[in-house]
Amino acid sequence: MSIVAVTPQSIKKASEAIQQGKLVAIPTETVYGLACNALDENAVARVFEAKGRPAINPLIVHVSSVAHAQSLGYFNETANELIKHFWPGPLTVIVPKHEGSKLPDMCTAGLPTVAIRFPENEVARKIIQGAGVPVAAPSANKSGSISPTSPRHVYDSLGSAVDMILAGGSCKQGLESTVIDMTSDTPVILRYGVLTKQVIEEALEVEVVDGVNQQSTVTSPGQLLKHYAPTIPIRLNAVDVEEGEALLAFGGIKFMGIKSGGAAAELPEDQIRNLSETADLNEAARNLFSHMRDLDNPKFKGIAVMNIPSEGVGVAINDRLARAAAA
Ligand code: AMP
Ligand code: MG
Repeated sequence: MSIVAVTPQSIKKASEAIQQGKLVAIPTETVYGLACNALDENAVARVFEAKGRPAINPLIVHVSSVAHAQSLGYFNETANELIKHFWPGPLTVIVPKHEGSKLPDMCTAGLPTVAIRFPENEVARKIIQGAGVPVAAPSANKSGSISPTSPRHVYDSLGSAVDMILAGGSCKQGLESTVIDMTSDTPVILRYGVLTKQVIEEALEVEVVDGVNQQSTVTSPGQLLKHYAPTIPIRLNAVDVEEGEALLAFGGIKFMGIKSGGAAAELPEDQIRNLSETADLNEAARNLFSHMRDLDNPKFKGIAVMNIPSEGVGVAINDRLARAAAA
């Protein structure tokens, strides 16, 4: 296993490693991906194994052009509009699998559909382009745990199960992509992300159906498995800190107290993280997973999380936190 800085040489090496069936952790604007050649069944099997990912949870296939995406799946008019607006970027679309695509069934968990994303991150794009193949890349962490937003997180979670880690700094957005089902003319949102339902609706001038918590519209098997969970309990909408709890703060903490006495601001440095002191939701999204990891220490009895407004990106942040709390 090697951890390498981003250089033109290491990007080329990463592309070649993918072509050779290896697993390469790559930076994207959302989270780090565990990338492999999506056409190589053995490599895809290794990704499932390294993550401990259930076989029923299909992988997102990453491409470096719209034409490449269209060779893998059928895009209807609305789907084409959608990707015209938001690709490259943190948007995954689910479309019927192209008859001519040679994607192994394992990659799509035997479904007649495929999830495709064209990432914006320049390193990711160059690696995919260099590999010249569709690149399957779920988050580079153990299944069910917190997604990685730095090379360190990848190493801590997967260690030597990865052949190479491209160290491209912290992820710009920090939450997994927004997933939209585009198998019909009506877009159905299956996973919230930085790209919000409202922004999509405004751009396309169509209604987007919210399928995230709708049992009836869950066509995304992985949706039900997702926990994003730390190893210690999470307590949401905390208005104070209990004895022995760590604090995941949002905004000002001047009025936040510790139940047994004292102010939250006086907690030891390792017991408190603030997602955004200025209550900036995008900053909070960027920090969420890394702060959760920092506080995920068995010496704390749990993590108290302050209220985060469910507006804009806050919807996706609260979705991840609710799943973490439910785990
Ligand atoms: P992850 O790779 O862990 O970020 O998760 C990918 C998400 O996309 C999961 O929720 C999957 O269930 C979903 N997904 C991937 N492929 C498909 C597909 N063909 N149909 C429906 N959902 C999919
Ligand atoms: Mg994941």
